[in-house]
Amino acid sequence: MGILIVDDSKESRDLLKTFLKGAGYKDIITAASAQEAFEALGLKGEEHRHGVTFRVILLDVVMPEMNGIEACRIIREDAHLADTPVIMVTAVGEQDSLNQAFEAGATDYITKPVSKVELLARVRSVLRLYQEMERRKVREKELIETLKQLSEANRVLTQLSAQDGLTGLANRRHFDENFSAEWRRAMRDRQPLSVVMADIDHFKLYNDHYGHQGGDDCLRQVAAIIGQVVRRPGDIAARYGGEEFVLVLPDTPLEGGIKIAEEVAAAVRTLKLPHEKSPVVPYVTLSMGVACMVPDRSKEMKELIERADRALYAAKRQGRNRVKAAEDHSGIN
Ligand SMILES: [Mg+2]
Repeated sequence: MGILIVDDSKESRDLLKTFLKGAGYKDIITAASAQEAFEALGLKGEEHRHGVTFRVILLDVVMPEMNGIEACRIIREDAHLADTPVIMVTAVGEQDSLNQAFEAGATDYITKPVSKVELLARVRSVLRLYQEMERRKVREKELIETLKQLSEANRVLTQLSAQDGLTGLANRRHFDENFSAEWRRAMRDRQPLSVVMADIDHFKLYNDHYGHQGGDDCLRQVAAIIGQVVRRPGDIAARYGGEEFVLVLPDTPLEGGIKIAEEVAAAVRTLKLPHEKSPVVPYVTLSMGVACMVPDRSKEMKELIERADRALYAAKRQGRNRVKAAEDHSGIN
């Protein structure tokens, strides 16, 4: 990391270089014109940038061909040099050009004839500034990285908090939070909303016979079937309680809800998961209740759940392993 001195006067260049060398600065490069400076900075366009990076540029204001102000502006336009400190070297009484230099992006200035003390003080000061900026950039980068990790962790957490740990379906909490949203949406759109409650038949007997590990496996397999059948975006399939599941089916009339329930029931029957102790049939079956409403202000959303629940109990009373529908209250058909 060197220092670049740009001045059309050899005397000036030598003096600045001598002062800086005397203070222990190394890698001091001199340029006699803006063009030479651009070459040293790798601003020659067609060529690839070479490795020299300057930590400070001393730039004479008055130079033939291109003056220091114009040169400063061009340096600042380069993304790699946007933050490199530029100290303008100006003669006394060039107040106007100094203003222009600051507008062009100069960091600081010293006046000619240059005093050694002032030069070194300015260089030290802009270097401190530069280092502080570099440190801040690193910190910002670290902060952005941390924020990214945080938001990813949040995403995973949200997903986990919405998911039933055993079955991977939505959990009760997710259902509670989203059912009301679907209810409101259906009310706004005046669309039928169907709910299916499902229960694994004689699950207590299953657990007693096959153990809790076996019971968990059974829940997982039934949940997997439900997940395969219920897959429209917007549908909710959740574990409602122990061996109870709930489906929320937006824009779905009662027949549609019954159809989905029958599909789930049939798919579970097809699995033929042994359930030796079941008084119904010797494999795992479901009882299901379906209800449908077009929500409006006179209705409460718990009513829909209660109807589906009553239909589920009717299915149980009538011998289980079946789908029962509540009376159609959707007002359509
Ligand atoms: Mg000059």
